[in-house]
Amino acid sequence: MRHLQSLFFTVFFGAAFYLSAQSSSSWQQHVDYTMDVQMDVKTYQYTGTQKLVYTNNSPDELTRVYYHLYYNAFQPGSEMDIRLQNIKDPDKRMMEDGKSRIASLTESEIGYLHAKSLTQDNQPVSFFEEGTILVVDLAKPIPAGGKSTLEMTFEGQVPLQIRRAGRNSSEDVALSMSQWYPKLSEYDFEGWHPNPYIAREFHGVWGDFDVKITLDKDYTVGGTGYLQNPQEIGHGYEATGTKIKTKGKTLTWHFKAPNVHDFMWAADPEYIHDIYEMENGPTLHFFYKDNPEFNENWKNLQPKTAAAMTFFNNNIGEYPYDQYSVIQGGDGGMEYAMSTLITGEREFGSLVGVMVHELAHSWFQHVLATNESKHEWMDEGFTSFISSLCMNQIMEQNKQNPFEGSYRGYYALVNSGLEMPQSTHADRYTTNFAYGISAYSKGAIFLSQLGYVIGQDKLMETIKKYFNDFKFKHPVPNDIKRTAEKVSGMELNWYLTDWTQTTNAIDYGIKSVEADGNKTKVTMERIGEMPMPLDILVVGKDGTQETYYVPLRMMYGEKDNPYPNLKRTVLEDWPWAYPTYEFTLDMSLDNVQAIMIDPSQLMADVEGENNIYQVEE
Ligand SMILES: [Zn+2]
Repeated sequence: MRHLQSLFFTVFFGAAFYLSAQSSSSWQQHVDYTMDVQMDVKTYQYTGTQKLVYTNNSPDELTRVYYHLYYNAFQPGSEMDIRLQNIKDPDKRMMEDGKSRIASLTESEIGYLHAKSLTQDNQPVSFFEEGTILVVDLAKPIPAGGKSTLEMTFEGQVPLQIRRAGRNSSEDVALSMSQWYPKLSEYDFEGWHPNPYIAREFHGVWGDFDVKITLDKDYTVGGTGYLQNPQEIGHGYEATGTKIKTKGKTLTWHFKAPNVHDFMWAADPEYIHDIYEMENGPTLHFFYKDNPEFNENWKNLQPKTAAAMTFFNNNIGEYPYDQYSVIQGGDGGMEYAMSTLITGEREFGSLVGVMVHELAHSWFQHVLATNESKHEWMDEGFTSFISSLCMNQIMEQNKQNPFEGSYRGYYALVNSGLEMPQSTHADRYTTNFAYGISAYSKGAIFLSQLGYVIGQDKLMETIKKYFNDFKFKHPVPNDIKRTAEKVSGMELNWYLTDWTQTTNAIDYGIKSVEADGNKTKVTMERIGEMPMPLDILVVGKDGTQETYYVPLRMMYGEKDNPYPNLKRTVLEDWPWAYPTYEFTLDMSLDNVQAIMIDPSQLMADVEGENNIYQVEE
């Protein structure tokens, strides 16, 4: 029985591992959207037409397609509503007096999005809704390499703002239009991803968007694409000195956005619209409500956005669009293609912080575009990592460890007992707390700690190479690991598997320090399951400082000396299975002042106390 069972597990987990070890594929589906939308700003209802040319670059014949109808989540009884009522720590923005805000929405306040008609290459097709997903059985299969044109009419209602999108935000922005159109689900090397909209995270198909939006002419619109008719529109888009003459009550805004996987827009009759031209970079647009208390912050935000753009261009890779817009709207901060929606009534540091984070997502969520439902840590975590570095520079924070907050969060999660492996689907975490820390903090530490393992220079080289090799490819965890391996020459499978697929923790300690003649014998122990290489700092009573480096055997490599001003001794490898490890200091015990594991504190050792041996004065 025992033997059979272990055989079963070998086969079962062997197969699971094989899947997760695949790399992102060399093909991508392609969508071209042409949409024409009429918005009634009084009822918050809109109608639209959508022509979608779908190119099937996969090796598979497709007989069915799925669309996301996100706004259907904002209805009493939706999966989002029910989840909100059942999760232990619901998102406070979505609750009022301890109850789900979705549950109390009236007919005129709910969100909805429905297809009214749908054809494939002019033939009607059958379709039905399953909550936030539209299931479409095609009239004829789309062969591998084939193209098909799907034409839809749709109607929607913008929900009261509950989460991310909606009408009349808490800061009184009229329309935050994200996830507003019928959006084709992604089909990639893993198949379809028709995730119901329960809480979070998106995955999309790249393509070209041509969007016309007609609404009341008093509203200023900002969002994803390049405005095609600025001279008809005005609202700050026109060439200086132009006089705009408008006829009728509405304006039709025409946007184009090439090579994006989402299209967001926001509109308000009271937006201030500023344009900031970067010297060597995209044009930056800012949209914010006229509020004397915060206007100065929004002005000062503009050069900081340019500085952040330059920082990311230099440290990750070139931003591939000519425009980026920072727009007041939404319910916190959320990234969209070529733009972000952030709340704006903030202290300056917080305003810069949220902008930096959302802007950084342009690289990780929009250009690399990892499937965030499955690998949320590669999006939120990497974004948090690079944002912390950026804030440290552009806000002159000069923190020694800019990721300190991430480590604190991670240790709190480990101590809470609520941790789940990072490979958990974003919607399936038992608590929002565990999701948040796992995605953002533990995800950021994946990189900061990788820098400890392979060296900081190699880490920054890895990030650039990763971006360059996998942009517009939806990379998967193995891709960042392979990139780090190629850059460092080390084997890193252990790092990826333990950190991201288990909750194994790191705990190394100094077990004993003993005199050995006129030398000193140090015994280390590995208490946690997760392996790591060790940097050890030794301080003598005479003030000398030197380091010892214990490579992990299964890395089959060594990093460069991270402390080039100190003498470093590279010791024998530590094979992981051995619980203890001994080495000798060329120093008498009398002269040892302190011994410390990982002085950088970038190794996420969950028990810090046993990392230090110190002689009391
Ligand atoms: Zn984020």
